[in-house]
This record gives sequence, C-alpha cells and structure tokens, in this order.
Amino acid sequence: MPANIILKKGKEQSVRRYHPWIFSGAVASVNGNPSEGDVVDVFAWDKTYLATGHWAPGSIAVRIFSFTKCNPDHGFFRKRLEEAMAFRINAGIAGKPETTVWRLVHGEGDGLPGLIVDIYGSIAVMQAHTAGFWKIREMIAQLLPEVTGGLVTAVYDKSEGTLPFMARLNPSNGYLVGENGEPGAVVTENGYRFRVDWEKGQKTGFFIDQRDSRSLLSRYSNGRRVLNMFGYTGGFSVYAMKNAELVHTVDSSAAATALADENVKLNFGDDPRHHCYTTDAFTYLAGMEREYDLIILDPPAFAKHQTALNQALQGYRRLNALAIHKIRPGGLLFTFSCSQVVSRDDFRRSVFVAAANTGRNVRILHQTGQPADHPVNIYHPESEYLKGLILYIE
Ligand code: SAH
Repeated sequence: MPANIILKKGKEQSVRRYHPWIFSGAVASVNGNPSEGDVVDVFAWDKTYLATGHWAPGSIAVRIFSFTKCNPDHGFFRKRLEEAMAFRINAGIAGKPETTVWRLVHGEGDGLPGLIVDIYGSIAVMQAHTAGFWKIREMIAQLLPEVTGGLVTAVYDKSEGTLPFMARLNPSNGYLVGENGEPGAVVTENGYRFRVDWEKGQKTGFFIDQRDSRSLLSRYSNGRRVLNMFGYTGGFSVYAMKNAELVHTVDSSAAATALADENVKLNFGDDPRHHCYTTDAFTYLAGMEREYDLIILDPPAFAKHQTALNQALQGYRRLNALAIHKIRPGGLLFTFSCSQVVSRDDFRRSVFVAAANTGRNVRILHQTGQPADHPVNIYHPESEYLKGLILYIE
C-alpha cells in the first residue's frame, strides 16, 4: 500500500484541473511515513481519491503522474514511454534521417514530471530531476531500447546536476544500458551535422529546443551580416551559414566557441565567412559599431528562481536595448528567454522597454516557443519556458 497524502479542504481544486504539482502548503496530513521519491496516493479532505505521484519533502510535495488509480510498475511506465514515442512519430519528429537529435520525454509535458530523455542518434541521455525517477532509473533505462523499436542501444544517465541537493542521493553520471565507444557523437538536425558531447556538454549536450527557431533563421539570414550571441555549439551559426554574407559567433566560454567552430567546419569546411569571438556578450555589444543586420540573443536563464525575477528582467532589458541600438536599419533581432519564471508577457514587456529606450521603430514578425517534442501541458502553464520574439528594426 502506498503512503497517503490528505489535502486541506479546497486544495483538491487544482488537482481536479489536472495540475500535476501539489505544494507542501496544501497538505493536511501524511500517513505512512513516505521517504523522498516514494509513490504516494493523494486524497481530498473527504477521502476521495485524486491522484498518484512521487513524494518529496520540498515545496513541491507531490509530482503527479496519474489522475486515475494505477499500479506504477514496469507496464505502467512502458505505456507512458510508448505514448511519448508515438507522439514524436505523429508530430513528424522521430524516425526521420535528417533529424537524429530530439527529445523523447519532456517531464510534465509527457505526464512524467521529473524525467527528461533526449535522443542523440542511437544514444538516449536521461536526467532525473526527482528522487522518484532516480530510484527507478534502471527500469526506465531498460525500457528505452524497447519503446524506441531498437533505435536506442545505449542509455547515459546524467542526473548528477539535476537531482535535489537535499535528497543526498550522490548520483554519478554513467551508462545504465550499453555504452558508447568514444565520447559524444555526430548527430543531424534538418540535415546539418553537429558534434555533441553529452558527457561534458551543458544540459544533455545540445539545445534541442531551438530547432524550430534555427529553421526560421535560415529563412531570414540570406545575404545578411549575422551576429550569434551566446552561441554555444553554434546551432544558429550553422543554419545562418547557408546563405549569410558573414556569421560571427560570440560566447564567453572557449570550449563553446571551439565547438561552434568545429560544427561550422563540419558543414561548410574552412569558410572565411565565419568567425568566433570568446568574450562577454555585453562587452562585445557595447564595443561594436552598427555592423550587423541580424542579431541572435539566446542567453542562459537569467532567473532560475522567482526571487531573481526583477534582476533577470533588468538583464533582458539591458541586453536587448544594446542589440536594438546597435543593429543596422532594416535589421532583424531574434531574441529569446528560457527562464521558466519569466512569463511571455514579462519578456515581451522587457523587450518593449528596451525598444522604447532606443527610440527606434520596432515590429514583431514572429512570436516563437518550444518545438513539439517539448510539449506544453495545458494544465501546467509552468512547462512553457522558452519564449522568442523575431523583430524588424527600422
Ligand atoms: N544558442 C545556443 C544555446 C545558448 S546556451 C544554442 O542554440 O545551442 C548559453 C550560452 O551562453 C552558453 O554557451 C554560455 O557559455 C554562454 N554565456 C553565458 N554567459 C555569457 C556571457 N555573459 N557572454 C557570452 N556568453 C555567455
């Protein structure tokens, strides 16, 4: 019998609207002494069953994976993973030779809060963000070859940096199924090739979530002088190299600019149109002339927590004001925020203030978000984290 959580009167409302998180303040009593990561059943104040999920002693007490009574065993998770796979096939993402890098499981977006699985060719890289999924990582890993129809032959667990510190689980990254002969691999995205190193790289190795925005970029980069700020693996740079007059990639990390250089070479050889600068983005923007007519701003999350929100908004305003001020007339700005705590409205308002400060005429051409393999659960607005604005600046 799983432990039981009884909610305070009225706190059942959000669960009935399928929100997958129960905050600790909503809990009236905990029966059965669950430890972190255990499966618990959730009941309303009047003892009616509501949901089943993983328990944690933090501010999010339960992450729900089922709103109907279930036995969360091997068969249960196999079905969830099969559904995630079927969804990516139906969305036209999985099973295409031109794109071998995609996300198979996106946490709450796939009814598996706390689990991320990214596919790099035949390798799956998984991250547990909760003790609940970390405890069943072996089972999940063993299911991945099966649910992908044999596509996945090795599974790398990269949960060292993603598990709650307080859980004291001491995870260590490594292969749970099979292994890969050498570190990383070359994968393809819309036919472009990228070297990805999931062991050393940021997140699971590649910012898969910008695939659609990268595609959009090559529609606009024709003949333009492109500046890719916060370039990391050079994803945007590679797409722009298709038709741009020149492409400059800026990142403060030397490992990142080396990787961006390598990826441009992998696709375009030693092409003098591309150049990398290892420096701080703000310093570079402040020091440059009006020399670019397409700028990409894809910074890391400026706010990881609600408390840092104001500072983050200030960061977005400063960064965007610099770029809008310095872009050539008739230029395009691709600007993004991946901070979950910054809402779409907040971000748009920051860019609005930045534009107003420069006094230039600015129009919104597109508002972008996450690609379909990072689906937003409609009952969980928090799963929408990536916001983009494509602007035309006179
Ligand atoms: N646009 C990338 C992802 C960007 S990740 C893609 O499509 O793959 C954010 C990057 O910003 C990281 O590579 C990090 O090294 C870099 N970065 C962080 N702070 C920076 C700063 N102040 N100036 C320049 N680069 C920075």
